[in-house]
Amino acid sequence: MNLFDLAGHTAVVTGGNRGIGLGYARGLVKAGAAVAVWARDQATNEAAVAELSDIGEAAAFVCDVTDVDTIDDAMSRTTDRFGRIDSFFANAGTTGAAKFEELAISDWQHVVDVNLTGVFQTSQAAARQMIAQGTGGSIVATASIAGTIAIPQSAHYSATKGGVLQLVRAAAVRLARFEIRVNAISPGWIATEMSSAAQAHEKTNSMILDRTPLRRWGTPADFEGVAVFLASEASSYMTGSEIHIDGGLLAS
Ligand code: NDP
Repeated sequence: MNLFDLAGHTAVVTGGNRGIGLGYARGLVKAGAAVAVWARDQATNEAAVAELSDIGEAAAFVCDVTDVDTIDDAMSRTTDRFGRIDSFFANAGTTGAAKFEELAISDWQHVVDVNLTGVFQTSQAAARQMIAQGTGGSIVATASIAGTIAIPQSAHYSATKGGVLQLVRAAAVRLARFEIRVNAISPGWIATEMSSAAQAHEKTNSMILDRTPLRRWGTPADFEGVAVFLASEASSYMTGSEIHIDGGLLAS
């Protein structure tokens, strides 16, 4: 079990106050890491910290991943509090639905700003911090199966997730010289606030269950183990890779 021990390790999870990000945070704290949650909503941040503090050490800092000033502020506050960062989960994301021919440029731009530019700006800030520390690190981006297969009603979302996969590969090759590893986690259909409309829509829900070999929605708890694996020494020779947590969907 020492392979997965995160005692003395500090992890940052953007969008860590609920859903998949809170799943990562829970796993990391259970393995002994101190976790800094970065997200916008103060009340949800506080609720997440209250829950995580029952298991271990956690703090939350308000951050909008589209706003570089708040990213810099959250990084300063995180390093003031914990001294360093060892792993960084660029997970905050948003979605939208529209027919391709009706997709508004403002909706396109918003999803690109959060899902692609937000991952770039936050993981760049993490890389700069890790380079300055000089002891390597692990950066993990949440992509999606939508980066590989088409989600026709969300062309903007699909495009950003494909972009995240290529960003991860490019950053992994560049940052390897600093012993900073960069990998992606691609969830399938996971029961969170983001997917609530799909869960509630009977036809969509049964299509998802039919397409998923494990025949259930994923849950945030399904992301605890993979977060610990990618943060820890257990994944020390893994970089530029994508892990699918999708109940077998892409294999079928
Ligand atoms: P949720 O909607 O449950 O959570 C989204 C999180 O992102 C919240 O913590 C939210 O916090 C945060 N967030 C959103 N916008 C911003 C922003 N501008 N700045 C900072 N934080 C922000 O979604 P999930 O947990 O489902 O999604 C997490 C990631 O997983 C996303 O990248 C998503 O694309 C991806 N994913 C999800 C799938 C699913 O089926 N659920 C499938 C595949 C990938 P706050 O509002 O307080 O800022």
